[in-house]
Amino acid sequence: MQPSISGGRLKAPQYKDVFCDHVMPLTEMQAQVESSRCYYCYDAPCIQACPTQIDIPSFIRKINNGNIKGAAIDILSANIMGGTCSRACPVETLCQEACVREHAEKKPVQIGSLQRFATDEFFKQLDSEGKNKKTGEKPFTRAKSTGKKVAVVGAGPAGMSCAHRLAMLGHSVTVYEAREKAGGLNEYGLAPYKMTDDFAQKELDFILSIGGIEVKTGKRLGQDIQLDGLKKDYDAVFLGLGLGSTNRLGIEGEDLPGVIDAVAKISEIRQAQAKDPSGSALAKVPVGRNVVVIGGGNTAVDIAIQIKRLGAEFVTLVYRRGQEDMSATHHEQELAQKNGVVLKTWAKPSRILGDSKGVTEVQFEYTAISGGKLSGIGEFFSLKADQVFKAIGQKLEFSGLDVDGGKIVVNDQFETKMAGIFAGGDCVGPGEDLTVTAVQQGKLAAMAIDQKLAKSQGGKRG
Ligand SMILES: Cc1cc2nc3c(=O)[nH]c(=O)nc-3n(C[C@H](O)[C@H](O)[C@H](O)COP(=O)(O)OP(=O)(O)OC[C@H]3O[C@@H](n4cnc5c(N)ncnc54)[C@H](O)[C@@H]3O)c2cc1C
Ligand code: SF4
Repeated sequence: MQPSISGGRLKAPQYKDVFCDHVMPLTEMQAQVESSRCYYCYDAPCIQACPTQIDIPSFIRKINNGNIKGAAIDILSANIMGGTCSRACPVETLCQEACVREHAEKKPVQIGSLQRFATDEFFKQLDSEGKNKKTGEKPFTRAKSTGKKVAVVGAGPAGMSCAHRLAMLGHSVTVYEAREKAGGLNEYGLAPYKMTDDFAQKELDFILSIGGIEVKTGKRLGQDIQLDGLKKDYDAVFLGLGLGSTNRLGIEGEDLPGVIDAVAKISEIRQAQAKDPSGSALAKVPVGRNVVVIGGGNTAVDIAIQIKRLGAEFVTLVYRRGQEDMSATHHEQELAQKNGVVLKTWAKPSRILGDSKGVTEVQFEYTAISGGKLSGIGEFFSLKADQVFKAIGQKLEFSGLDVDGGKIVVNDQFETKMAGIFAGGDCVGPGEDLTVTAVQQGKLAAMAIDQKLAKSQGGKRG
């Protein structure tokens, strides 16, 4: 490791707050004022823009009337991870972009913050078993048992949303998860300044409080369990595997020490934060002085911001096309710049230089579009680097099902070409790779599985 890479770049007390909420939650008064800005539109465009179709005007009206439970039930019955989505959704390109007040005055109703207010306040009303502290009632209950068993593989947003809906419909669910903790990228990937206070695990506990869901961690499909076995032992299977491995750059020097997969580093940072909220584990995370990030999506922006906040001196994010082509939203790009990250566009890495101690420099070639194709123009520049983060996309790790464009092929019921095996979330083709999309697909797949199981016994249950 290069001597310039070390932990403890900040003063000890700074670690506690380095990843505090980047959007502060609303106070009760602020929620009152903000909810009164909604026009409660008929045929509200914000609902159409929400991938889970939450009845947004209805929950906002309930907040305004002081009915927190009603507001939260509106949200959670459409999106059981409404708490995470209120923190992580790119609302500026979804519901808030569609809000009529965005069009009229460039000041949309703060739907994401109101959604967070409703779900956070509602969770405060529940005890550790997910029951209302006053009435002992659970907000979501199970239907009469169908006697059917479903296996869910992957405990990320898609898998857990599917499991919850299946449990609600009376099926018995076993979730198999490869990692040590359930939660998928909610636990291991979302930026720590979006998911403070161990929220991913709190939300998971709430989801499991419905009952009828058993989670088995440390069980990897293809290694500890096999698809054939699951098919035999269960009435249906849902795969919510996400995209487990990272694309390679395919250039010289890629395997030098200090050239790191951005998702793995983000996971290390998230787990350090979860281990010790006082920040002492974060202080041990190795951070370089001159950091280069390669990529143009959310993952690239996230690692750049996180490593800069942990004390890297210079962080440069390099993207091969223009800023307007980056898949990270404008809001995320702005956040990166506000955090001191330098964005450099129209350049691609050509080789990484260094020695056995680690990387020292990255050489880039300027790019341009020529004849409709992106290519290098033969002019080069170098950036000094002791850490290089690769964030050029992820890919499916699992093989054994039909794949198109790197994703599992499913029909409009989220069933794969293998009957009885369903899939959803990042591992399948349709939809953007977002938490909210994964939650919606998991929910829709659960409903399709339920229909199929009901049909298989002539519409009768149990
Ligand atoms: C760094 C990063 C930041 C992001 N930030 C945002 C954001 O701010 N907002 C947003 O909306 N989206 C964000 N996303 C995208 C979002 O996290 C994903 O779209 C979402 O998590 C997809 O959910 P999923 O359930 O399909 O997959 P995942 O969350 O990846 O979950 C898949 C689960 O399956 C498990 N698994 C995989 N293979 C196996 C196997 N063979 N056997 C058993 N278990 C297995 C994995 O361990 C994992 O727990 C981000 C993604 C990344 C990488
Ligand atoms: S579009 Fe805006 S104003 Fe209309 S219902 Fe939705 S949040 Fe309210």
